[in-house]
Amino acid sequence: MAQFESHPGAEGLSAASANGEKSKRSKKDGSKKRTRDGDKPLGLGGAGALGERRSSVSKPARDFRDKPEPAPPKKKKRKTSATKEAPTPDEGGELSTRSPSPVIDFGGLSRPSIGTRERLEEDAAQKEARLDRMKGAVRTLLECVGEDPDREGLLATPERYAKAMLFFTKGYQENVRDIVNGAIFQENHNEMVIVKDIEVFSMCEHHLVPFTGKMHIGYIPRNAVIGISKLPRIAEMFARRMQIQERLTREVANAIMEILNPQGVHVVMESSHLCMVMRGVQKTGSSTITSCVLGCFERKEKTRNEFLSLIGVNR
Ligand SMILES: [Zn+2]
Repeated sequence: MAQFESHPGAEGLSAASANGEKSKRSKKDGSKKRTRDGDKPLGLGGAGALGERRSSVSKPARDFRDKPEPAPPKKKKRKTSATKEAPTPDEGGELSTRSPSPVIDFGGLSRPSIGTRERLEEDAAQKEARLDRMKGAVRTLLECVGEDPDREGLLATPERYAKAMLFFTKGYQENVRDIVNGAIFQENHNEMVIVKDIEVFSMCEHHLVPFTGKMHIGYIPRNAVIGISKLPRIAEMFARRMQIQERLTREVANAIMEILNPQGVHVVMESSHLCMVMRGVQKTGSSTITSCVLGCFERKEKTRNEFLSLIGVNR
């Protein structure tokens, strides 16, 4: 449980999926010594959250993108600001996160996965090789469904599909720090801010088919607001990855919490999953709604309801 900074490696990544953030939050105060395996981030996020976060408000974001190793110093900082030192020394990856869920993770990659850094840092030759591997895979797929990959209509399909897939997953090559790019403004506006009907296209990680829909983001500032256009871009960054809707919703909420330290965040997403519509139960009219509430939205029903009625979900 001791050294946290040393490996921003794969372990941290895999640990990325946080389990109930709620539970973490609730424990924040009581347990400053975190259990090392389960929810390490809680200490950071929970207890020291306010104090630490403040610092992040002044900066664009707390993730420093590509320095996996440099991460340690930052941590230190955080630690100092946080009264409890205990939290800092976690294990590998997540230490660099203050929030209960390692959304903005080591190196600023914002929940990277095993191959994320490799993809990000590849040179032209490696890029070519990646494309070739993908093309081969698509060709195999075509053969397996009973097609002739060499017939005219399909000749360029493997390459087209490979490139399309890379586009669908371009979120792996982005991070919150670059997106926010300093667009955080000190402002005495402490009323609810909502951006609704953000179109979202994502990929179901279980079936590799799209799910699409709309996301609504609301937050209540704490003397700082974020450039409005940044909210859809943050949503886009997390959407352009292999996702499940539940996690996508949560990651967007956590990222905003982390970047801006608002009084609260509420994210609602309604979407239609092709894996439901085209196969399986084939319920074409159904939509799936997920919601993530943090901070004052979690505590106050009235605030939640105000948000829901403003976005029109609460009819
Ligand atoms: Zn699916």
